Amino acid sequence: MSTTGTRPSVPFLDLWRQHDALRPDIERAVGTVLDAGRFVLAEQVTHFEEEFAQLAGTPFAVGVASGTDALELSLIACGIGPGDEVVTVANAGTPTLCAIRSAGATPVLADVDPVTLTLNPASAEACLTRRTRAIVPVHLYGQCADLDAITALARRHGLRVIEDCAQAHGAAYGGRPAGSIGDTGCFSFYPTKNLGAMGDGGMVVTSDPAIATALRELRMYGESSPRHSTRPRGRNSRLDELQAAILRVKLPHLRAWNERRRAIARAYTEAFAGLPLVLPTEADERTHVYHLYVVRSAERDRLRARLAERGVGTLVHYERPVYRHEAFRDLAAASAALPDTERAVGEVLSLPLFPELSDAEVTAVIEAVRHAC
Ligand SMILES: *Cc1c(COP(=O)(O)O)cnc(C)c1O
Repeated sequence: MSTTGTRPSVPFLDLWRQHDALRPDIERAVGTVLDAGRFVLAEQVTHFEEEFAQLAGTPFAVGVASGTDALELSLIACGIGPGDEVVTVANAGTPTLCAIRSAGATPVLADVDPVTLTLNPASAEACLTRRTRAIVPVHLYGQCADLDAITALARRHGLRVIEDCAQAHGAAYGGRPAGSIGDTGCFSFYPTKNLGAMGDGGMVVTSDPAIATALRELRMYGESSPRHSTRPRGRNSRLDELQAAILRVKLPHLRAWNERRRAIARAYTEAFAGLPLVLPTEADERTHVYHLYVVRSAERDRLRARLAERGVGTLVHYERPVYRHEAFRDLAAASAALPDTERAVGEVLSLPLFPELSDAEVTAVIEAVRHAC
């Protein structure tokens, strides 16, 4: 560990620690796949899909190549495409928007709740038109969006709900696992997520057997039986055996990792009470898994610089709303004003929070933040 004077410097994230601890198990899992000699859609993926479906509390889970593909294929499996509008948020990065566009649909941006920074159901309702077919709430930073209000809205208007769970493995809403409440739940196994592969991977969970069947066919060239393609929008999007084997090593640790994340978050929240920061809140019915611990400050950039001086790594999730990316600039003109999104984007700052963070590092972050404030 490097030091700044006597204080430890704290990295924003250090994946090496997790992989070092699991290395013998991971090497054994990779060996199992080499021995079996089957690398695509074989027993590791099948077992992992079963194990992940259990976590998500759904009868079906379908492994795909990424979280972005999980979203795109979910939309296609629900029959959504050109001419259809899909409501989502602008403060959660570009993948969700890429998926909606790749499915051929038109994204429509709603504002976020000023407290949780997840989709504001009233704003979503104001976005609905005759063309709206689906809502994609993002369970941002590890906390579920307001799913009661969103599913009620969807029911009233006959819309699909596709949950973006890329940051919410193991989160819950009203005791129900993230991903089990909408028509599908879409997970990413990008290495930095709460459950990360050693490469790319994704998963769709669903309770609808027709959607599960559509997804299994869509990820495999649209084939409904071997070498007979029946779905024109089929492609290649598969979770591979090596990633599934590695994810099976990690999955049994997810609950403990999330508990450690929650414990660190509690320590931060207690220590930061009284500072001029807006702290993350946990709405009563939601189990937050703290993919990120995000504070808000009107002086975010100064705070960030001061923390950097003390050796504390931070990041901003995300630096700009999607409509200020060139690719999505047209959405700014088409959207109503999103004042709560605008305000949040200028204020959010993510502090180091990962399960392998030591108590000494947690203390160092706390002292640095107090000092900086
Ligand atoms: C990571 C992420 C995705 C995309 O996942 P990939 O596996 O990188 O394609 C989608 N939505 C959100 C909110 C994410 O954080």
